[in-house]
Amino acid sequence: MDEQDFFDQGALVAVQTTQPLDRMLDYKAPEGGCFRGAFVEVPLGPRKVLGVVWGAGRGDFDYAKVRPVNRALDVVPMRDEMRAFLERAAEYTLTPLHAMLRLATRAPGLSDPPSMRKIYRLGKGEPDRQTDARRRVLETLHEYGGLAFTLKELSEMAGVTGSVVKGLVKQGVVREEDTPRDVPFLRLDPDRGGKDLTGDQAATADTLRAGIRSGNYGTTLLRGVTGSGKTEVYLEAVAECLRMGRQALVLLPEIALTAEFLTRVEARFGAKPAEWHSGVTMTERRRIWKMVGQGCAQVVIGARSALFLPFQNLGLIVVDEEHDTSYKQDDGVLYNARDMAVLRASICGARVVLASATPSLESWVNAEAGKYEKLELTSRFGPAVLPEMKAIDMRAEDLPGSRWISPSLKQAVNRRLEQGEQSLLFINRRGYAPVTICRACGHQIGCDQCDARMVEHRFLKRLVCHQCGETKPMPEACPSCHVEGKLAPVGPGVERLAEEAQSLWPEARLAVLSSDLFGSARALKEGINTIAEGGADIIIGTQLVAKGHNFPLLTLVGVIDADLGLQGSDLRAAERTFQLMRQVAGRAGRSEKKGEALLQTFQPEHPVIRAILSGDEVGFWRAEAEERRHAGVPPFGRMAGIILSAPDVQQVFDLGNALARNDGPMRAIGAQVFGPAPAPIARVRGRHRVRLLVKADKGAPIQAALAQWVGQFRLKNDIRLSVDIDPQSFY
Ligand code: ADP
Ligand code: ZN
Repeated sequence: MDEQDFFDQGALVAVQTTQPLDRMLDYKAPEGGCFRGAFVEVPLGPRKVLGVVWGAGRGDFDYAKVRPVNRALDVVPMRDEMRAFLERAAEYTLTPLHAMLRLATRAPGLSDPPSMRKIYRLGKGEPDRQTDARRRVLETLHEYGGLAFTLKELSEMAGVTGSVVKGLVKQGVVREEDTPRDVPFLRLDPDRGGKDLTGDQAATADTLRAGIRSGNYGTTLLRGVTGSGKTEVYLEAVAECLRMGRQALVLLPEIALTAEFLTRVEARFGAKPAEWHSGVTMTERRRIWKMVGQGCAQVVIGARSALFLPFQNLGLIVVDEEHDTSYKQDDGVLYNARDMAVLRASICGARVVLASATPSLESWVNAEAGKYEKLELTSRFGPAVLPEMKAIDMRAEDLPGSRWISPSLKQAVNRRLEQGEQSLLFINRRGYAPVTICRACGHQIGCDQCDARMVEHRFLKRLVCHQCGETKPMPEACPSCHVEGKLAPVGPGVERLAEEAQSLWPEARLAVLSSDLFGSARALKEGINTIAEGGADIIIGTQLVAKGHNFPLLTLVGVIDADLGLQGSDLRAAERTFQLMRQVAGRAGRSEKKGEALLQTFQPEHPVIRAILSGDEVGFWRAEAEERRHAGVPPFGRMAGIILSAPDVQQVFDLGNALARNDGPMRAIGAQVFGPAPAPIARVRGRHRVRLLVKADKGAPIQAALAQWVGQFRLKNDIRLSVDIDPQSFY
């Protein structure tokens, strides 16, 4: 072992804490010494805080006054590669290291010693006396099947005090057990349930396996139409990784998808992998964090934050649906999990597989340029074929106002109903109607906190702001002119579409799939299963349905408003529409029967709509790439957004103007600064927002320049500034 890797008691060590300080602090190594990378508890003022020993101390402080580390925690020290990853990610995203470290320590109770704990699960029988509180406890346990919880978790979830649970334990209705806090995950068997791959699939899997065996970093773009077997193929890469004794991470864009995926992994490898996302309990998170660090969790399925788990020997990261916008964290630390996956893998010699039917333009360009390996699956597995896509020219349809299902689409649905097949009507808007207008004065009801209109949600009987989540009851009278009974919905949302469908097909069984209509991921999963098994004739859904669910009986997809995403100034509007339309259409015809996708549009001649219909993906990407190259925007140029916000509008503009006037550091690298301008949503949660946009050449050292530029200013009062490197959305 390198002697620099161990610090004897009393030696000075530099500790990076998770506290918002702009430097590391020196401490004395604790009794027994500590390793570089050790997780430690250190005193900071009157508090004890978590930190990591980053290296030798600076020694620029009176040794006698340096305080010792309280203790080193009983967890595996952070690996060099993880420290390097956090440093580079911090540099890239212009995020302070303490905020990065926080992402890497998001497991509560890390500092607790390993020990036994009591857990609670469903016992036998009924309580002698049923109370509301008791019923809630039992319902909670029932809802989670056979799972067990700590007292704190269970009582919080059921909204009862601990004594209610204890009362049930006395009667044997709830069982109390002792278990070790953190148990390893079951071994996965790479050679268990593999499918017989088709020729194409097998060749693709071979290439991926060879990559894994090389033990070197490399990224592969795995492109294949929905249903072509991408998942089957990358599971073979996971298997190879397991055979090599390395760990694998599979990132999914949507928590709702994990359940279906877990079942598949279990069928393939004989046991469940670890599951990491915001819906997982605190206790389970801590277990995963620790087990991943000890190599006792071989495969993790997770959301983007799983990238920051302390893998012992990470060999593969799969980013499924790599084009999905939810990989971009747009709150707190602004990072793109897809890009960070590539960074992390390049540091630890792992492979990355980016899987998608409709890759992001960035990845497509990287693959074309040879930076990424490119693999393709061109046909659907088995008898399934891609649906035929057609436009419905809405200019020629006879449709009254406040109706959105055209006669042509109606006929197509009728045919499905007669044949006992399913139809999906897709609209990418939650709620009943996006706008509520007063027919007396023309006032549109807006959010008090944001510059956004409130969306009527009829199931909730409330107006909801989709920016800040604020809700209020639907008023009787117009808030502006106070006339009663004149408020009217304008435009369709998924709920309103359901109403129209119900009136067109009163006999049909409808299912509405929208993320806000299900209480929990579990309820959503059940809803999806019921539909997949034929529990509905017509599915009415938002974006949620576009993401990877299998509906074998579905043969028709009707897109209510294919033009929706084309409006707006977002540079990725075309790309997004193209991806979304193709994903949605891909839901149809996934088994023997051929599917059809009908796109209602007022602009069938629009180049994007034409590209979608023709199915000429490569042609579309080429044209889109050419346009972006011409405009010097990503992936051919670099961009960064600066968002300033404060309760006081003058203050934000003053700072915005000051930034624009002092843009020397940006000009020095040949970058252009645009703005300040009100952000597209100029007020959110009562804070006024102003944005500046930076455009630079691809090779320009944009991070350093930004740091210098922004660093000229001290932020006063309640003003906030965030830098968004490679912004994905422009709101
Ligand atoms: P994708 O990830 O490209 O959408 P999947 O891997 O989910 O495709 O495959 C679509 C469906 O076809 C899944 O139900 C999968 O199990 C099945 N499938 C794909 N390839 C095979 C195969 N070689 N043998 C059996 N079933 C397969
Ligand atoms: Zn709001």
